[in-house]
Amino acid sequence: MLIVMEHNASEAAVEQVREAVKAMGLTAEPIPGSERTAIGVLGNQGFVDDTTIVHLPGVREVIHVSKPYKLVSRDFHPRATVVDVAGVQVGGDNDAVMMAGPCSVESEEQMMASAAAVRQAGANILRGGAFKPRTGPHTFQGLGVEGLKLLRQAGDEYSMPVVTEVMRIGQLDHVCRYADLIQIGARNMQNFDLLKEVGKLDHPVLLKRGMSATIEEFLAAAEYILAEGNQRLILCERGIRTFERATRNTLDLAVVPLIQQLSHLPIIVDPSHATGVRALVPVMAKAALVAGADGLMVEVHYNPATALCDGAQSLDPAAFTRLMTELSGLRAYLAAQP
Ligand code: PEP
Ligand code: MN
Repeated sequence: MLIVMEHNASEAAVEQVREAVKAMGLTAEPIPGSERTAIGVLGNQGFVDDTTIVHLPGVREVIHVSKPYKLVSRDFHPRATVVDVAGVQVGGDNDAVMMAGPCSVESEEQMMASAAAVRQAGANILRGGAFKPRTGPHTFQGLGVEGLKLLRQAGDEYSMPVVTEVMRIGQLDHVCRYADLIQIGARNMQNFDLLKEVGKLDHPVLLKRGMSATIEEFLAAAEYILAEGNQRLILCERGIRTFERATRNTLDLAVVPLIQQLSHLPIIVDPSHATGVRALVPVMAKAALVAGADGLMVEVHYNPATALCDGAQSLDPAAFTRLMTELSGLRAYLAAQP
């Protein structure tokens, strides 16, 4: 429930509403805004009877929010959230963040060469999976903690914060120790225990959209993290499963402006997993920025032909450098738009 106050409502009127909400056993959260004062009501598990609220002095309107998310919604938090990832600002009016690197950490040589290449091209966050959610058990499953160390080493060497995936709660200590940004992958978007646990951390989180998740389910998953207190969340569209098999997934770009209407959280796009096809990655990366994405996550391997995971969708250093050059022109053009 959202209580919208009159423009000229006094402090005392706002306080009286807060007291009334508290008396109902619920939490009142004032929502700062230049246009209006509003009070979000949290803690209810169903419809709230508003009869003790609607007639209080200064109350203009009571809006019943039927969505399964509140904390992530723009109604409750009108201003865009900016997430600080070890000094790199993501969201709001900041320049689009460029996360890049191999699908998986494979070796020191591979990680160092890939990190050097993406840094040289202008990426500002390094990616690399150490715990890999693979479809089949007979494929490369990642280097685990050894991979985390190599990722950290490469990030430090080339001055980039690092992002990596966590698959279960038991890996969280390790991942928090080595990574600046914790990724929850598509397959775990609705692993509610994991969501609650990362919600308790003071560590930024990247939540990828589940491959068959609706936008409402995606935002409800994000709500789990904010509900535990962690506000440092970035969303990521990475394609959804449709009837189409010519591409690995179907990139749902409309989700970018839509989520920006519905939520204050930053949203980035991963054109690599969204297409699965190297040749399609650059053009979809550009389309994502035109759609307003707060950044991109792109798989880059120093030698994609030898990649142990997702080589077909990985750019080589030359292709990534070309893409970054094209994107810088596009970003300048977009920034100049009113
Ligand atoms: C990944 O980023 O390596 C990954 C496995 O992505 P997704 O969860 O989107 O499939
Ligand atoms: Mn991958």
